[in-house]
Amino acid sequence: MKIIDLFKTQPRTYSFEFFPPKDEIAAVDFGINTGQLLKLTPSFVSVTYGAGGSTQERTFALVDFLQNKIGLNTMAHYTCVNADREKVTADIANLTKIGIENLMLMRGDPPKGEGAFVPHPNGFGNASELIAFAKQNFDICAGGAAYPEKHPEAVSLDADLSNLKKKVDAGVDFLLTQLFFVNNHYFNFVRAAQLKGISCRIIPGIIPITSFSQIKRFGAMSGAEVPEELVNQMKPYEYDNAKIYQIGMDYAIRQCRDLLIMGAPGIHFYTLNKSRATVEIFETLLK
Ligand SMILES: Cc1cc2nc3c(=O)[nH]c(=O)nc-3n(C[C@H](O)[C@H](O)[C@H](O)COP(=O)(O)OP(=O)(O)OC[C@H]3O[C@@H](n4cnc5c(N)ncnc54)[C@H](O)[C@@H]3O)c2cc1C
Repeated sequence: MKIIDLFKTQPRTYSFEFFPPKDEIAAVDFGINTGQLLKLTPSFVSVTYGAGGSTQERTFALVDFLQNKIGLNTMAHYTCVNADREKVTADIANLTKIGIENLMLMRGDPPKGEGAFVPHPNGFGNASELIAFAKQNFDICAGGAAYPEKHPEAVSLDADLSNLKKKVDAGVDFLLTQLFFVNNHYFNFVRAAQLKGISCRIIPGIIPITSFSQIKRFGAMSGAEVPEELVNQMKPYEYDNAKIYQIGMDYAIRQCRDLLIMGAPGIHFYTLNKSRATVEIFETLLK
């Protein structure tokens, strides 16, 4: 089912993001963890597309499995890095042929070691161009990426929002956000997007911090502000994994609860293919 159609009956959606397991052992681990998560009956699940299309085969195999063998409403992430129009057409045709109606369409990052993003000569320069092309040629529901603390390449949040409006005008049906830890960034962003004329759902993307090393890593990876209060709370327990986990969970639960109370249209969980934290948050929220 198209996610946009789910919205007609679900004022809030709860979704889980996975990445394709890299080998057989990771696949077994994935099976155990997703088994726990699927009991929570998510509105939809999504599968990432490795940088520069590096996981294309595994992404497509996993979306096929989740959609057709497990029966989950599944969205494939897809980027136009190194892809010309023929490849994009063939890839989306393959996905729609196996019943994938939902695509998270992004420009993608330049391959590691390369500086700025360089579009394929017969490809697309940004997500809006890809989305416009895909929506004109296929009957799909398209998600797009949004950045409450601005995309790293954008000169300002306002410029990024103007580009986001182009994405919505190109036909995007909903937006999923980059991870963030400070809810005010999300709420300010949603208000600013609305002022730009963006009215589709902007679903917050949340990742719980469950180990001390993640604090720096997640912040650096996403450009998200990690609140000093959280760092200070965790610092004395740097080597106490259980305590760090508990502090991270308490924070994530408060963050999700606040988002929902303040009217967010659901939550997209970056699960990192693990189940424990997401299950705990989900069950606590629904109590
Ligand atoms: C929820 C989520 C899931 C993701 N999943 C994946 C994944 O599975 N695989 C992966 O490789 N990456 C993924 N990414 C990362 C994403 O590919 C990168 O952040 C990438 O750098 C930008 O992609 P985009 O679609 O947001 O690009 P765009 O929307 O094209 O924006 C990129 C930059 O260009 C600017 N821009 C956009 N349009 C224009 C225009 N018309 N004129 C001038 N400037 C413009 C924007 O302001 C921004 O700075 C994900 C990101 C998010 C938030």
